[in-house]
Amino acid sequence: MTLTVAVPVVGPPAAGKTTLTARLGQAPGCAVFRLREHVPETILAATATSAERLGWIDDFNVVTALRGYLDTTVKGDQTSTVFFDNFPGTGTQVRLFLAALEQHAPGCTVHAVELASEVTTLYRRAFQRRVCHRCERDPIHDPRLPAEPSAEDAQRCARCGGILHPRRGDAPRLLRARLQRYRQTADGIRQAFAEAGVAVTRLNSGTSPEQTAQAVTALLTSRIRQL
Ligand SMILES: [Zn+2]
Repeated sequence: MTLTVAVPVVGPPAAGKTTLTARLGQAPGCAVFRLREHVPETILAATATSAERLGWIDDFNVVTALRGYLDTTVKGDQTSTVFFDNFPGTGTQVRLFLAALEQHAPGCTVHAVELASEVTTLYRRAFQRRVCHRCERDPIHDPRLPAEPSAEDAQRCARCGGILHPRRGDAPRLLRARLQRYRQTADGIRQAFAEAGVAVTRLNSGTSPEQTAQAVTALLTSRIRQL
């Protein structure tokens, strides 16, 4: 199985990128790339100490992580479609990403998706969403994956029964800074894709996760038929 489709999913914080990619990545032959999972712990720890950096990882480590992942995925031969959760994060990263794909998976098509929501929706989601420190053993104790609350007690994890917590980056001050940073970088991301001839499909993620996932699947199916 060759890697033939790459789907970068970008958008502001709390737009639903992780939920969407996790859902789509479950299909056979599909996988999800999350940058943090491929970056050495020491590098992650360095990003966590400063609110200004907001988890920012330098381009050298980004490229190393991405190329390592692509190399393993292509050699593993089990994956035809990779969803990139919240990646690339800047215009420069778009160029590095496309160059790496070209080298490791020549001929792979790229369908970029940008999720968009009302700012009030983003704030509400960020306020409501919870993570589980027990189910997601994050190297720097900053879990990101959405946890399912238990039906009996919404404060507890449906999977392990542990107490759920807000995401560290969802604290109002950090969320505001992350939203602002996304606004500043989004144009560069769109522009770099446009320069490379890659269309970016904007999807309103204010609907349910199921609807957003269906919209992406429909988009990919129709594009593949056109080829
Ligand atoms: Zn749990």
